[in-house]
Amino acid sequence: MLEKLLGDLNEAQREAVTATEGYVRVVAGAGTGKTKTLSRRFVYLAEGLGISPASILCVTFTNQAAAEMKRRIRALLPGRDLGYICTFHSFAVTLLREDCHVVQYPETFTVLDNADKEDILKEIFSDLGITSRELTVRDASDYIGAWKGGHDYVPTLIDPDLTKLTNAVEAAQEVRQRVLWRYLYETRKTFGLDFDDLIYFALHILRRDKESREKWQGRLEYILVDEYQDIDKDEYALSELLAGEHHNLFVVGDPDQTIYTFRGADVRFILDFQTVHPEGQTVFLRENYRSRAPILTAANALIAHNTQRLEKELIPTLAGGQKPLYYHAPIPEAEAGWVVEKIRDRLDAGDDPGSIAILYRAHHQSRSFEEALMRSKIPYTLYNGVEFYRRKEIKDVLGYLRMIFAGDDLSFLRTVNEPRRSMGKKRISFLREQAVHSGKSLYDTLKSSLGLPLFQGTRARDYVSLIEELRAAWKGMKLTDLLSRLLAESGYEEYLRLCGAQDRLDNLSELKQSIFDYEASAGEDVTLGEYLDLAALFTDLDRKEKTRSVRLMTVHAAKGLEFPTVFLAGFNEGSFPSRKVLTPEGLEEERRLCYVAYTRAGERLYLSDTEGPLGAGSLRLPSRFLFDTGEENLDFVEPLDPSLRLPDALPLPPLVGNFAFRPGDRVKHPILGSGTVEALDEEKKAYRIRFDQLTTPRSIAAGMKLEKL
Ligand code: ATP
Ligand code: MG
Repeated sequence: MLEKLLGDLNEAQREAVTATEGYVRVVAGAGTGKTKTLSRRFVYLAEGLGISPASILCVTFTNQAAAEMKRRIRALLPGRDLGYICTFHSFAVTLLREDCHVVQYPETFTVLDNADKEDILKEIFSDLGITSRELTVRDASDYIGAWKGGHDYVPTLIDPDLTKLTNAVEAAQEVRQRVLWRYLYETRKTFGLDFDDLIYFALHILRRDKESREKWQGRLEYILVDEYQDIDKDEYALSELLAGEHHNLFVVGDPDQTIYTFRGADVRFILDFQTVHPEGQTVFLRENYRSRAPILTAANALIAHNTQRLEKELIPTLAGGQKPLYYHAPIPEAEAGWVVEKIRDRLDAGDDPGSIAILYRAHHQSRSFEEALMRSKIPYTLYNGVEFYRRKEIKDVLGYLRMIFAGDDLSFLRTVNEPRRSMGKKRISFLREQAVHSGKSLYDTLKSSLGLPLFQGTRARDYVSLIEELRAAWKGMKLTDLLSRLLAESGYEEYLRLCGAQDRLDNLSELKQSIFDYEASAGEDVTLGEYLDLAALFTDLDRKEKTRSVRLMTVHAAKGLEFPTVFLAGFNEGSFPSRKVLTPEGLEEERRLCYVAYTRAGERLYLSDTEGPLGAGSLRLPSRFLFDTGEENLDFVEPLDPSLRLPDALPLPPLVGNFAFRPGDRVKHPILGSGTVEALDEEKKAYRIRFDQLTTPRSIAAGMKLEKL
């Protein structure tokens, strides 16, 4: 039996799988089998040691990665309940569904995704009469996120006395603060938790409630975390806390693949792991099983240019293969044409389209490749899930499901007049006023107001009957059946048909298919609540994939994945590294991102860039990372013209727009004195400067005359 579990692993991997007790860290380069080792350890704990899988928490970076890991583990442990294989956010949801009574939240609390957060903010903006010149919704959203990260706000939020929140709205001087407190009030009122709240609430409960803490610490005998190099301080706190009783924490990661610093990831957690846990152990894996030797040579040469790194070995086990092939195109169409021609060659050679990926730095770069693939009738999947789950029809239907399940105000407002039921602004304001007085939800207010003359001539009664009927019925139904019934009885599908909105109907079919697949893959009885949680947690990294299609995605989304054939397109200076990068640290992160891109490839890696459309004025050059990789490590379709070479000493991308200073620069303001530039705000065309004499940073217009110190 042990032979079956360990036989196909190398010695170091076996050591990592079988060192089950204590704090264990695996530090290793791309494709060395970290993820394989982690999932095998799960199986080894269950089969080799007889640990109940319900006592194991296994954390992955995306929901998609969790689904994939479950699939693999289920193949080795058929018929077993797999416990907690999930992301930090979905684990937090599970914990809160069980324990949020500690903070007096109902277990039917709503998970608010980023689009919900924006919807709430838009409402607040219109209510408070805030214009986008004063503040944008995006800025408000970022501000709230950052504020939550720096304040112990949960106690205020969970206080049953809501007047503290309303008073804070009144007292707030600054517009951002007013929005913030109003947002806290709105989400509190409907028991909605946004992504930040999920983690902070879980931490709050574990820290303050002994019973809950001891329960979870006792229950989770083993904790495994993949992609640990991209963990942030809150996730770190959560994993350390959960491991507080059994002290069995196993983490795997590659410091060279830290690519989420911009979202708070901190590589120090993996680097300092052994210092924090001196009794722990570290296993290094050296052999790469994914990429042909010439691809690894290129990747190793590239990453060696980073100064902030731990050097580590990465030895190919797959000999043979070709050097990465570089193509410099004269115009974008030519680049896309070349990529599609190469894809054609692979398909003619019998490769599955699913074995091919086109990667790029930023979402908008997919356009020309999509068009070229479409023209050539090659099936492709664009990983751009935010788009999918943010589409109106998808949000509407999920809103209906949530209405049945939780009945929160946000879902009510989204669905009550969709399709039209004559429930316009006037009637909604009436409900709002009533609800403020009674403290009831909008839906319950409507239910008890149906008899009023105001609602005569509307179809509000139909809406209420629909929700009531489905609420009575859903518990015994399969999700797919519930959805079909909902689409038929609400008139929503019919309405789209009448509009002739075929693309939106197609999206609904895709949603049905995704629910169907979810039911099939979850393997256990799934409830509406679980599905809604999952849907709310979907991000652009989790686009449901069509099999047998070429994958198009950003390099960020490709993290952890592998493909026999990889194209890294749009490999231009200014695109990759992005011209938004302004610091040496930022540039190193871009280089790591490029390393991630190269190391996704197994058999073949193609790189391409293009000159701008003629007449665009700006000269576009190949990426500096091409030269970091070393021309000797690449093959070229045509020799590179020397004029395309970047000047030798080019430490950072050129300064952007009107900015004359970079973050980190010391400057002197004629009135405010000296200070340090912290950030550049391209939209506002302003610097954020922390002045030595002031306690908070200030926003200073880029045109202001400042002296460099
Ligand atoms: P990344 O850093 O990109 O996340 P990783 O270290 O997690 O990579 P895996 O994805 O686990 O690497 O493994 C890479 C490939 O190598 C997979 O196809 C895996 O099946 C294969 N592999 C791992 N270990 C071995 C082994 N001992 N023998 C043969 N193949 C292996
Ligand atoms: Mg991995």
